[in-house]
Amino acid sequence: MCGIVGYIGDKQAAPILLEGLSKLEYRGYDSAGLAVRDGDKKVKVVKSKGRLSGLAEKTNDGKSLKGNCGIGHTRWATHGEPSETNAHPHVADDGTVTAVHNGIIENYQELKEKLQRHDYNFYSQTDTEVVVKLIDYYYKKYQVGPIDALAKTMVRVRGSYALVVMFADYPGEIYVARKDSPMIIGVKDKECFVASDVPAILNYTRDVIYIDNLEMARLSTDGAVFYNLDGDVVPKESSHIDWDAKAAEKGGFEHFMMKEIYEQPKAIEDTINSALNDGKIDLEAMGLKDDIIKDISDITIVACGSAYHVGVAAQYVFEDIARIPVRVELASEFRYRNPILNEKGMVIVISQSGETADTLAALREAKEMGIRTLAIVNVVGSSIAREADNVFYTLAGPEISVATTKGYTTQLVASYLIAIQFAKVRGKIDDKQYDYYLSELKTLPEKINKIIDDKDRIQWFSAKFANAKDVFFIGRGIDYAICLEGSLKLKEISYVHSEAYAAGELKHGTISLIEDGTLVIGVITQPELYEKTVSNMLEVKSRGAYLMGLTSYGHYETEDTANFTVYVPKIDEHFSACLAVIPLQLLGYYFSVARGNDVDKPRNLAKSVTVE
Ligand code: GLU
Repeated sequence: MCGIVGYIGDKQAAPILLEGLSKLEYRGYDSAGLAVRDGDKKVKVVKSKGRLSGLAEKTNDGKSLKGNCGIGHTRWATHGEPSETNAHPHVADDGTVTAVHNGIIENYQELKEKLQRHDYNFYSQTDTEVVVKLIDYYYKKYQVGPIDALAKTMVRVRGSYALVVMFADYPGEIYVARKDSPMIIGVKDKECFVASDVPAILNYTRDVIYIDNLEMARLSTDGAVFYNLDGDVVPKESSHIDWDAKAAEKGGFEHFMMKEIYEQPKAIEDTINSALNDGKIDLEAMGLKDDIIKDISDITIVACGSAYHVGVAAQYVFEDIARIPVRVELASEFRYRNPILNEKGMVIVISQSGETADTLAALREAKEMGIRTLAIVNVVGSSIAREADNVFYTLAGPEISVATTKGYTTQLVASYLIAIQFAKVRGKIDDKQYDYYLSELKTLPEKINKIIDDKDRIQWFSAKFANAKDVFFIGRGIDYAICLEGSLKLKEISYVHSEAYAAGELKHGTISLIEDGTLVIGVITQPELYEKTVSNMLEVKSRGAYLMGLTSYGHYETEDTANFTVYVPKIDEHFSACLAVIPLQLLGYYFSVARGNDVDKPRNLAKSVTVE
């Protein structure tokens, strides 16, 4: 969970590295560093604590670091406090090896002790310094070249890594090694790039080569050569990236989060259209033929964070309209639970980045058990996309804000499309119902636009309540799933404590937390559960709560109960999460702005969680 960039070519490396890192700052940002090399002169390392701007200042925007070959890093600390010493790049004692690392070396303590017995000293608390010195140790002990030294290291370390390494004896070359942490290679005439994610290099090249797990590569002005653990060359093709580089810019908005909230109608429309063929849902293109769909006994949805909340909402939709049993699991729990899966079942994993470490591990676990896997992923060519049997790509485009918005709603839409198709193929709905569901889905973009147009009311309300100490979200059924996401959105960027509760559960404990003026948000979009949730809202109101109601137009009686009511357009109740979440995204956003927080880069968080 950090950003890595490397460059070798005919231009000055440092400015390119700094610009690339600025596109990756969303991944982690407690410190940053560069190592640049001018021909066969000694590598120069500059590091700084805090934001990337500190490093840019220290190096005069990179101009004071001369050289055509370099590596850079923004760190999100896992081992050792954020400090200049712990920042990457890390260097072996005599400067033979310099490297940056994303990931965690699990057995670093044992390796450190081994190296200490061989007279290595350690200046930092990081696991990365250990791996750098282990490379140095094998490189010298066996008198082998960089690829063999890296291969020996890879066999010895446990954990996850994207490693980008410079060897003092090999000027003009950069070496990389990868296991379970994201990394891509960009190629161009006489230039090579390496980065944790595509936006870092889009301004320079659109031709990308994916490095697989347990592979290494040598980058030079002659291009990239890939190797497996045996040191054999692995042939690779490059892929062309079509993303618009502008899509990863703020485009006039103050924050990426607001820009991405506005992009939802288009992202949803694109995602729906990508799954349609002649006006009907077509899952065959992603390998899900009708006879496969008919044969699936049950579904397990596995994900983390907001993607898990998508799973919770999708569970209601799948079970209600497709009548197929669904269970939803947190990836970090699933992988260590020794799960029992039905061999005819299907595991759906959901991840915006396609690199979420826990979700990737869960996917592998399911595959090892021989279970069919379907991934709902946004980033093309990501690890999860490459490893799953079937992939449904959401067309959200690059999502930069750490708090997901368009990633979440496009994942919801993908799960709706799959559920509708399952319902039809398995004979649970007729053609008329099928057409109805599909036409309802197609109204989402226009209805979301309408909600966004009304954002001033939420802004006003947020300004009034931004000092709240605790906020509770309550709802039943799909409304409970919306509450989970609304609560996460609020707490992750505003730092206000909030909790989501299934409304019927309040009386089993939480209600004792309600005090005079506590803000409680009741989500009531499910007609059949409307009265039940309103009763629960009254229970907290009579204990002093201030009530915000979030419901659909038409339920004007909500105003008899709630102190403040927000309406969203009517839609088939199965799809209401995709509308009701929008005011809650706006609420989180405006709370965060009102409290003076860094909306796009909340403290302690990173966008794609590539460590356990
Ligand atoms: N584990 C390494 C550290 O703590 C790398 C963390 C990262 O991926 O940024 O320095």
